[in-house]
Amino acid sequence: MYPRLRIDLAKIRHNTQTLRELARPWGIDIWGVTKVLCGAVQVGEAMMAAGIATLADSRLENLARLPTAERALLRLPDPRQAEAVVRLAHWSLNSELVTLEALSQAALAAGKRHRVLLMVDVGDLREGLWPDEVIPFVRQALHLPGIEIAGLGTNLTCFSGVLPDPTNLGVLVQLAAELKRLSLVECQVISGGNSSSLELLQQGKIPKGINNLRLGEAIILGRETIARRPLPGLFTDAVTLQAVAIEVKEKPTLPTGSIGQDAFGQRPAFTDLGVRRRAILALGRQDVHPEGLLPLEPGVRVLGASSDHLLLDTSDYPEGVKVGQVFSFGLTYGALLAASTSPYVVKQFISHPEREGT
Ligand SMILES: *Cc1c(COP(=O)(O)O)cnc(C)c1O
Repeated sequence: MYPRLRIDLAKIRHNTQTLRELARPWGIDIWGVTKVLCGAVQVGEAMMAAGIATLADSRLENLARLPTAERALLRLPDPRQAEAVVRLAHWSLNSELVTLEALSQAALAAGKRHRVLLMVDVGDLREGLWPDEVIPFVRQALHLPGIEIAGLGTNLTCFSGVLPDPTNLGVLVQLAAELKRLSLVECQVISGGNSSSLELLQQGKIPKGINNLRLGEAIILGRETIARRPLPGLFTDAVTLQAVAIEVKEKPTLPTGSIGQDAFGQRPAFTDLGVRRRAILALGRQDVHPEGLLPLEPGVRVLGASSDHLLLDTSDYPEGVKVGQVFSFGLTYGALLAASTSPYVVKQFISHPEREGT
């Protein structure tokens, strides 16, 4: 069945293991983030096989699917879902007292102890308490039974693209030290961000005291997320997308007729490159962000896509292209997120590539 995501679990396991080994000398443990593959069980299991103890995802539906590892909810909970949060997650990321109150009630009712990673905004302006709010907030939250403030975390390079550095991550470490000095909280986890923190880790510049990173993209796509550079020793092709050619024809590069808007309200522009050989693949914007497709075959260029048709220029492809031929693509994070969420894209999990049929 096509289009399909081909997910090589051995490569995901290798990437996880390599990243764990990179982080271990710095006293840093890794939470494996599964959301870009919608919390696929097989992916969670591959991460666990590489030694990951905690799987993290932003959605409860995904956490419910994941294997029996320790689970963390990455997106701040909706207080209405407190019951499900304490049932499905051992940890959640939080920044609101009303939500902690709801989690506290739910944890008490379930006879559970729910751990909270308190989020601190050190500049990226997504979720989190402002640093000077943390101590007063913790003083209030400590009264809530059933929950445990068990750590501090921050998220960077997401909304504003702010890069992790020794100063902003240092704020977390200082706050944790202050919480300890005031005998308020002994942080088990001080979480210094996502895959964008790996650049700093490689330079040995993560402040001492940070003991956790939450990694998704680096594990799945083998790249850090500042310049999207491949990380040494990691596979960047653990996940590829495959789709089928449904038309192959020679066509001019200039359309015939007067030009209005395309299917998405844009006014396309064209350069005359003469007659080119093109292929249409059965793949479109209902499946993927076409701008995030990276052709793996030589001499293939993505021209664009409508809802269901992807147009390729295949003039420089070394052989003849046939209807029914399968083309493979690497993916950016955004393209992978869309493809793995599309109900039209099949996920094919490969655990033993050497035994794969054709
Ligand atoms: C998605 C997410 C991560 C993982 O980010 P990557 O860039 O994929 O490593 C970490 N923390 C939070 C809060 C997230 O939402």
